[in-house]
Formats: sequence, structure tokens, C-alpha cells
Amino acid sequence: TCGEALFLPGVCQVRNPRLLKALRIALKKEGVAILEQRPVTGLLHDGHRVLGAETPAGPLAAELVILATGAWSGPLLRRLRVAAGLRPVRGQMLAYRAKPGLLHSVVVRDERYLVPREDGLILAGSTLEYAGLDCRTTPRARLGLEMAAMRLLPALAETHVLRQWAGLRPGSPRGIPAIGVHPALEGLYLSIGHFRNGLLTAPASAALLGDLVSGRPPSIDPRPYRVEVSGRLR
Ligand SMILES: Cc1cc2nc3c(=O)[nH]c(=O)nc-3n(C[C@H](O)[C@H](O)[C@H](O)COP(=O)(O)OP(=O)(O)OC[C@H]3O[C@@H](n4cnc5c(N)ncnc54)[C@H](O)[C@@H]3O)c2cc1C
Repeated sequence: TCGEALFLPGVCQVRNPRLLKALRIALKKEGVAILEQRPVTGLLHDGHRVLGAETPAGPLAAELVILATGAWSGPLLRRLRVAAGLRPVRGQMLAYRAKPGLLHSVVVRDERYLVPREDGLILAGSTLEYAGLDCRTTPRARLGLEMAAMRLLPALAETHVLRQWAGLRPGSPRGIPAIGVHPALEGLYLSIGHFRNGLLTAPASAALLGDLVSGRPPSIDPRPYRVEVSGRLR
């Protein structure tokens, strides 16, 4: 028995790997060049304006830079004196290979949840762990996730776990992202700290950032997301 529950018929879901594939295709169609395996190691600036990015394969000149480096942002933010309080928060999940129709809706209880996909896959999530940038999975997390999943749906005791994986969330103190221009460096924008809701909030975050970058009146009040700095740039 689960006692009292809320039924939210309007809740939807997206398959995040497919969303990313679609985004790549859309960007390619727009002629956007994607440079992979080219980590940004620092930003180029003259103390007032951003001039581009440093990479191991050489500098990239740019008048406008958007920093959206997720859980790995720490070293770059420290050099830019951004006070976002960002911490990587590891999340582990399981995927069960169930028969399609075993579960019809997302179920959430006590921070644990099940997400059924149309093809029968059921995702069970997720852990919240402060383990730095360590992205490995652990047997302990698997056990905890299996027990929680079976409490939510006992039939999963008979169901094969197909996969376990881990990801790093860009954790921010209250889960509120910082979106906007760097107050001391013209041309540098940030979009960081989306913590547990980066997919859910992506359309709104992108709309706000797009407005700010283009100089349009923002459709969302930007003040709660303002980028704050402390001290002088290094
Ligand atoms: C287990 C788990 C479950 C989740 N479930 C949900 C959910 O149900 N709904 C939801 O909305 N959100 C969910 N999230 C959170 C969501 O994944 C994040 O909020 C979101 O991915 C943050 O987006 P981002 O673009 O800021 O960072 P990321 O998606 O982490 O992207 C950052 C990118 O920057 C790249 N990068 C980092 N450093 C550099 C560098 N120096 N140079 C160049 N590139 C760099 C990285 O390789 C990466 O591709 C979940 C996260 C986890 C781990």
C-alpha cells in the first residue's frame, strides 16, 4: 500500500539521449560547428572584455562566450571570481528491462522514482552523492536503488537490471541556476548550476539567455538568476 498519493495526469517525460541526438541534428542543420575533445582550459580576456577561449589545441577567438560547463565548471569559475557555490552531485540510476505496460506512469516517493518508457524500459533513480568528479557506479547505490524500486513496484523483483550508470549534476546551493552576463567581463555569459532540473528548465533557461545575449527585453525576470562575483579577476 502507498497511502495517500497525488495523481498528476499532465506530467510528461522526454528521453534525454534522444533529445541530445535531436539537438545535434538541429545544430548541424543550422551550420553550427561542434568541436569535440577540445576542452576549454581558460578564458582569454583583457580585464574588461572576453576575447575567446584557451584550449590544448590552441586559442579560439570569440567576441561572445557562453560558459555552460556543468559540474566541471569549478576551476573556470574560480578564475572568473564567480561565487555560485557550485558542487558536483553524482546521481546513479538503474534501467530495468520489463514488459511494455507493466507500469503506465511516473511514480515518485521519498526522493526515489520510476520512469516507464514505452518500449518497456523502466528507469529507477536516483542517488544524491557528493563524490567530487568521480563518475563511477557503486554496488551500494545499486542495492539501495533496487530496494527502493521494489518497494515502489514489487514486480521488479523478477525483472532483469539491464544497466547501471552515473552522471554528475551541477549542484547549486538552492538549486537555482546562474544565468546572465559576467558583471566584470563584457561578452561573457554563464548558464550554470541547474542541479536536478537542467532538462526540465532548458527551454526557459535558453529563452532567458537568448534574450540577454541578443539585447531583447527578457521574457523572464532575470534578477533571481543574476551572476555574482566576489573579488578581482585573475
Ligand atoms: C541521474 C541523474 C538524473 C537526472 N534527472 C533529471 C531529470 O529527471 N530532469 C531534469 O531536468 N534534470 C535531471 N538531471 C539533471 C540534468 O542532467 C542537469 O541539470 C543538466 O544536465 C545540466 O545541464 P548543463 O548543460 O548545465 O550541464 P551538462 O549537461 O553536464 O553539460 C555540460 C557539458 O560541458 C562539457 N564540459 C565541461 N567542462 C568543459 C570544458 N572545460 N571544456 C569544454 N566542455 C566542457 C561537458 O563535457 C558536458 O558536455 C539528472 C541528472 C542526473 C545525474
